[in-house]
Amino acid sequence: MTAHTRGVFRPSAEVRRILIIEDEPINQMILARYLEGNYSVLLASTGGEAMEIIHKEQDTISLILLDLNLPDIHGLDILSRLNADPRYARLPVIVVTADIKAEVDCLTQGAIDFIPKPYPPREIVLARILRIIELSEDRDVLRWTERDQLTGLYNKDFFYHHAVMLDDHHKTLLTDAIVLDINHFHTINDRFGRAYGDKVLQRIAEKALDLVSVSGGIVCRSEADTFYMYCPHQQDYGDILEKMSVDMDDEDEGAGSENRIRLRMGVYSSVDKSLDIERRFDRAKRAADTVKDSITQAIGIYDDAMYEREILADRLIEDFPAALREKQFQVYFQPKFNITADKPALCSAEALARWNHPGMGMVSPAVFIPLFEKNGMIQALDYYIWTESARQVRNWKDTLGVSLPVSVNVSRIDFLDPALVGKLKGIVEEYGLDYKDLILEITESAYIEEAGQIIETIEQLSALGFCIEMDDFGTGYSSLNTLASLPIDVLKLDMELIRSAFLDPKAKRLLEAIIKLAESIEIPCIAEGVETAGQTADLKEMGCDIIQGYYFSRPLPAADFMQFVREEEKQEV
Ligand code: C2E
Ligand code: CA
Ligand code: CA
Repeated sequence: MTAHTRGVFRPSAEVRRILIIEDEPINQMILARYLEGNYSVLLASTGGEAMEIIHKEQDTISLILLDLNLPDIHGLDILSRLNADPRYARLPVIVVTADIKAEVDCLTQGAIDFIPKPYPPREIVLARILRIIELSEDRDVLRWTERDQLTGLYNKDFFYHHAVMLDDHHKTLLTDAIVLDINHFHTINDRFGRAYGDKVLQRIAEKALDLVSVSGGIVCRSEADTFYMYCPHQQDYGDILEKMSVDMDDEDEGAGSENRIRLRMGVYSSVDKSLDIERRFDRAKRAADTVKDSITQAIGIYDDAMYEREILADRLIEDFPAALREKQFQVYFQPKFNITADKPALCSAEALARWNHPGMGMVSPAVFIPLFEKNGMIQALDYYIWTESARQVRNWKDTLGVSLPVSVNVSRIDFLDPALVGKLKGIVEEYGLDYKDLILEITESAYIEEAGQIIETIEQLSALGFCIEMDDFGTGYSSLNTLASLPIDVLKLDMELIRSAFLDPKAKRLLEAIIKLAESIEIPCIAEGVETAGQTADLKEMGCDIIQGYYFSRPLPAADFMQFVREEEKQEV
């Protein structure tokens, strides 16, 4: 497809080239003189010569002027050859002829206009040429923007447009929306290089085109390694997946040995056509996400459970602004105990968001936090939770006379806000707190993602005096030996890490090693999700410093937590 190699920019007039195919020297001369100063000219006196030039210069030729009577090939033959070859089909051809009767034949063979012989005045010829060139360039630009440059497939916008047209023409046809993702495409790119990755994408695009040309659908590349397919409903999705898989082999320089490219697939089958097209592919995409980390399953189907979740998500998103306004969100506090001394001592609390929804009762943060992270509401919610937490710390100082720091969760999405540091600083100042009164829990995965920028912000927060806890440690993949260089005051071990340590001796040794390592770089460890006295004792022995979990207390509403603190204070004395 020639569109891949040519840019979308229009060539300026001086560099536009016109190929004149004409055997009479006198006609050659007249035409060349007409064009002089406006175009650069290529000349061919025979059909053979012309085809050779076209083959070599196809990308730089803007227009062909074709005489029908040539010594070797007839002009009509040249026309039909150009018309039949997709590489040349875009080249506009004006036929120059004295034979008015040939017009119909020429048009059916793909000529776009005529210039009669003897030639009309120069201005008329030039005007006609310019109009045709501009027309064909517009058509090129259109074709270009319709298509993805690398694979020649439709781009997403045009795909959606065509999908809607398909629906218009086949109103009662059952249709499937299918999303295909390449597994670990990043790794493929990293290991074998970009050129190889590009080749993989091209191969898959070819397969996809083959497939839809049989099934009667359309396909596009929507993003880097994601393909969308919209096609008549089918039964056997395994078959599609099989047909789309490609084997790269020795000939594909880069990979060295045979390399099977694996795909995963999401299907929203027999789509509801009252939904807009984006939404239908959203569903297919979510279905594909359900098998993202699976090694046994490659096909995810959009089902009722996903539908229910989607309805719930829509409702929660819709209800969010009112919920924030009407203070339906509450902060619960879960105590943390320092266990390094003989007697455990209350040392801080984690603030955890709760949503007391008027229609649904208590909604778990495990449901709404990921949702709000995706939809950008988390920033407003977290700001509210931080402020409420700071207000409570102030309240405990004033009414109980105790200084108990609270740790708040800071989502990686919060770091997208350039005003983050200022906002946290503002809260501390507003309630007359010390920076040490607010601990920031930042999940391990935030340190890895777009690492540079986030770490810089964490460093600023740390420099102000905020205490930084790395949350959920063990779920991400930060290497242990980089911990020392990161701005971390406390390591909060992931609950799963703790849980598995009590089930499996190997996991226990790993946990022990992590705690020892943290100790060696003087970072204390918190274990969360601790539920029994036995676990507490074990963790203490391993060298863990702080414990949080049901063993000491569940997360409590502010009033109950205050009572809890009072009791603890009493026991202290
Ligand atoms: P997380 O930060 O890892 O919080 C710990 C979770 O473990 C909390 O769940 C807590 O209630 C639960 N938990 C505590 N002790 C135990 C125990 O002994 N056993 C068991 N099984 N669970 C225990 P929760 O409150 O449902 O919060 C879930 C997650 O939601 C949190 O995980 C955190 O990532 C997020 N989250 C909660 N509140 C906020 C918030 O205000 N802002 C942000 N950004 N995220 C929040
Ligand atoms: Ca946390
Ligand atoms: Ca955690």
